[in-house]
Amino acid sequence: MFSVAIDGPAGAGKSSIAKAAAQRLGFVYVDTGALYRTVALYMLEHGVEIHDPAAVEAALPQVEIDMAHSPAGQLMYLCGQDVTGKLRTEAVSLATSVCAAYPEVRAFLLEVQRSLARRANVLMDGRDIGTVVLPDAQLKIFLTASPEIRARRRVKQLLEAGQAADYEEILQDIRARDYQDSHREIAPMRQAEDAVLLDTSDDTFEESTERLIRLVEERRRP
Ligand code: C5P
Repeated sequence: MFSVAIDGPAGAGKSSIAKAAAQRLGFVYVDTGALYRTVALYMLEHGVEIHDPAAVEAALPQVEIDMAHSPAGQLMYLCGQDVTGKLRTEAVSLATSVCAAYPEVRAFLLEVQRSLARRANVLMDGRDIGTVVLPDAQLKIFLTASPEIRARRRVKQLLEAGQAADYEEILQDIRARDYQDSHREIAPMRQAEDAVLLDTSDDTFEESTERLIRLVEERRRP
């Protein structure tokens, strides 16, 4: 199996770029953030105090997660229900970052992620894929862009979806999440030593996707 680990901060374009590249390469795209989001959604929907690690840990055995791949993208199921449409709110994003800092939550999802990579050629996107989940991945990418560019892209996305968007607030959320993700004790977000840095600040979506595909093709050549 050929695995590509893609790490980097929120809003750098990882998921859309990886999804497009996976489609062209015939790989399975795995969005690991959705796994963490599904865990956080469970906690929010069941009134679990997310700032209490013991409470979150105690709830984990009830969290039944399933994943399916459809032409529209990855579908997430929580205790048998399709929750894909509920995972992308700002409330879930912030709660996810809190829950993802707990070792029990990370251990709970580690084997799920590894078994996906054993079954197919994957492009797996997350924060610690190259450093922890798939340290032997054939290709590691650290995909990033400046916080301001990421906030601007997010505002555009929200406005296009007909939702309200406040640039300063979004920039603040992005900074808070970056800080939280890169300063946690366990599996902090960082570039693996053998990862290729892909900064998308000055690139269009198509240019970034092309660069990623080229890197995979170069690495796959015998
Ligand atoms: O990638 P996405 O923004 O959906 O991830 C949501 C949150 O899940 C991140 O901010 C991070 O806290 C957590 N996460 C993680 N490790 C991963 C993927 C996501 O800690 N591999």
